[in-house]
Amino acid sequence: MRNVRVALWGFGAMGKGIGQTLLSRKGVEVVSVCDRYEGYVGKSIYEILNIPQGDRPQVQVVNDIHQALADKPVDCCVIATDSFVKDVFPKIEAVVKEGVNVLTIAEEMSYPAAQEPELAAKMDALAKEHGVSILGTGINPGLMMDLLAVCLSGAMTEVTHVRCERVNSLSPFGATVMQEQGIGITVEDFDRGVQDGSLAGHVGFHESAAMIAKALSIPYDSLQQQMLPIITEVDRKSPHGFAAKGHIAGVNMTAQALQGDQEVISLIHPQQIEPEQVGVDTGDYITLQGTPPIDMAVKPEVNGGLGTIAMACNCLPFVVAARPGLLTMLDLPVPRCVMGDYREIAFPEGRHA
Ligand code: NAD
Repeated sequence: MRNVRVALWGFGAMGKGIGQTLLSRKGVEVVSVCDRYEGYVGKSIYEILNIPQGDRPQVQVVNDIHQALADKPVDCCVIATDSFVKDVFPKIEAVVKEGVNVLTIAEEMSYPAAQEPELAAKMDALAKEHGVSILGTGINPGLMMDLLAVCLSGAMTEVTHVRCERVNSLSPFGATVMQEQGIGITVEDFDRGVQDGSLAGHVGFHESAAMIAKALSIPYDSLQQQMLPIITEVDRKSPHGFAAKGHIAGVNMTAQALQGDQEVISLIHPQQIEPEQVGVDTGDYITLQGTPPIDMAVKPEVNGGLGTIAMACNCLPFVVAARPGLLTMLDLPVPRCVMGDYREIAFPEGRHA
């Protein structure tokens, strides 16, 4: 039986980690990589990742997705380039039209119907037309502030309130995230970015809340969101970011989903580069009110970079095996660390052999 064949679109901090992890797994191979960064185009992925090629075929980075998908069959394309549905939509469309399944870590794709219902419907129709599946996943959104709460609620007979808090480090993430969070900018630029909407902060509250609401049948009328700067009192340097004293080292985001004037979901997410440097302890906390109440604490936080890479790699064979259409994490089997042969999950009963 042939291996599961994967193309990567976006070879930044996350894409490279996903590539490196897949290369260490059984029954799966990385057949092509597409990235527009000139320093990578034409280069061997093994050279970029600094790992031996061994007896694997050469893979050189290309800047054209059609070229990356030309050497069929490709079972899944992992898109790690964007955060927003409207930006990643044309990429997903291009891949789906080639008859290839899509897994993306774009945050808004974790529950695209939350803010982009029309594009979500289009993607669902397109995926069904071409017989492939599309999934958005990641660490958050994707697991820590949504799916994990949903999973814990399985041990309850009634849920009246959901509170998810993630105190985390932004240090593992690449340039795209540094830009979205305004790492290193002045307080004035931060305020301006919040006012004119150019600064995103954490992307995913709408999607996390919508996923929880859908899963638990606790609809809400409105979602309000707040965004405050985390101003550093010392210089902080992470692999992809730098914030000088007095500048922005992160964003404290909060949101509340309201049913009338009653809060049903609360999301709390202060994130910054190098929190350890200023004595901030990271952690993940989920508190579910109801019967019986559940109080979960994970300290320190589940690592955001490795967690995202793992979620992408671990969900990938399930996406290949899934029914056609636009999927969310609510549609897939329980995520687990896939250490066995990818083909056993991706090609049940030897399908595609
Ligand atoms: P990054 O900036 O390190 O990497 C992005 C890469 O994509 C770069 O190498 C860039 O050259 C490439 N790229 C962008 N547009 C392209 C295009 N049109 N064609 C070819 N290449 C293109 O960012 P990252 O840290 O790897 O994160 C990638 C995306 O994933 C970000 O938008 C980030 O917000 C998101 N993300 C989501 C989660 C989650 O939990 N869901 C977690 C981490 C990152």
